[in-house]
Amino acid sequence: MNTAIKSIIKQPSLGLINSIVANDSLREWVFKLGDKAIYKAIVEKNPYGRPVKVQEDKYYLLRNLLNSINKALKNKNISPEVQHSAINTFLGKVFLAENPTTKLFEQKYGFEPPSFLLISPTKRCNLNCIGCYASSSSKNAEHLDFETVNRIMNEKRELWGSHFTVISGGEPTLWRDNGKDIIDLAAKHDDNYFLMFTNGTTINDKTAKRLAEVGNITPAISVEGLEKETDARRGKGVHKKILKSFEILRNYGVPFGISVTAMKNNVNLITSDEFIDFYFEEQGAIYGWIFQYMPIGRSYTLDLMVTPEQRLELYKKEQYMVKNRKIFIADFWNSGPASNGCIAAGRSGGYFYIDWNGNCSPCAFYPYKTHNIKEVYKNGGDLNTVLLSPFFTSIRKWQDDYSYRKPTFEMGNQIVPCAIKDHYENAKKTIIETGAQPIDQPAALALTDEEYAKGLIKYGEEVDKLTQPIWEQEYIGPEKAKLRIPKAS
Ligand code: SF4
Repeated sequence: MNTAIKSIIKQPSLGLINSIVANDSLREWVFKLGDKAIYKAIVEKNPYGRPVKVQEDKYYLLRNLLNSINKALKNKNISPEVQHSAINTFLGKVFLAENPTTKLFEQKYGFEPPSFLLISPTKRCNLNCIGCYASSSSKNAEHLDFETVNRIMNEKRELWGSHFTVISGGEPTLWRDNGKDIIDLAAKHDDNYFLMFTNGTTINDKTAKRLAEVGNITPAISVEGLEKETDARRGKGVHKKILKSFEILRNYGVPFGISVTAMKNNVNLITSDEFIDFYFEEQGAIYGWIFQYMPIGRSYTLDLMVTPEQRLELYKKEQYMVKNRKIFIADFWNSGPASNGCIAAGRSGGYFYIDWNGNCSPCAFYPYKTHNIKEVYKNGGDLNTVLLSPFFTSIRKWQDDYSYRKPTFEMGNQIVPCAIKDHYENAKKTIIETGAQPIDQPAALALTDEEYAKGLIKYGEEVDKLTQPIWEQEYIGPEKAKLRIPKAS
């Protein structure tokens, strides 16, 4: 990374950071240097020899994130504490710093540790959305105690050198234990940067003020489209509350993003210019996550999923938005190349999921487990007990053999990366062979539902067939062409 940026990050002085941020030309210069350095490091150096288009996909996303942060700083939409945390913790610790703990782990176990965890501390939610993957509602009381979450946070830093945490739910802002909440957790772990998925309806002045002061949490607020679509799935009046939350967050200088579930009936809208302009230009969202509806959780159904043809269209539009509209928008499935495929089960640089009961699943959309962290702790284990379990090891082996550790020309199609949604036959086999158990009733039903299995297997095959030409021509083809020896004249 560029020495100019490194030297800034090394400065502990909030005053210096603020003066750079406040100076438009100096800030523009620093961000331009950052952009060039990222391109050089990711695309030109390409340290792991991945296909160039894979590296370009990563570069565009990071470039766009930098652009959005720059824009928010220009508009004075970021508080001084958030600036400090974003630079020191997010950039300094998550992205740039050499991490001796990570290296030690790799030497001991032969692979790099996960970079983060997804934790859902509570199942409770004030909404009751159609098809919620977590089956949450106001009636749910299951939650993790603060001390267990605190221990998880300490361990992931000590064992893996992880400084990034994703929080989901249930509605995480409703989590309370022993008088403490999610902002108390962030304050206690100020060397971590938190991405918190929230429905956004509980954010008021008091919460926003605390978020601005703590500086290391960014809320990703769920929308389903514009007002009509959001209210149809989440409840009447929810969209108005979300707009109010955006306003409060802007006023207090807390950067936020959006999270949207792509379904058959909203997929065109969420990739339209109208949608992008509204959330990113008008409302000031810094980033967006697209989660294609996954048939798990309450009243799961394959009927809500985007069709294979819609998924292909979605991929093309996402590529356009990222390259040409320059916004950070990542799709948990279609952006597979940018993450080198599936990142579940604690893959190097990836994560696993711990829910409100302590159940440890490969990811939020793979609802099966062999370990519960509370039992692991009772039996003297730690996070590595889960990470090294046969269930997770088997999934990581599949990731390696499918694409992650394959030579470039043999890499499996990373536009269909999903260990469960796109490769269900293999997932079901892994679940049965390793004795993994469903984490809830819908997951138990799905496992014995023959129609479900048939439908998902067919889905994966069709998406693969539709996207294989892109994978072959745009990702792998140019690498093969480089090796072609010109014919003698
Ligand atoms: S299993 Fe699927 S949803 Fe989960 S991390 Fe892998 S690709 Fe993403």
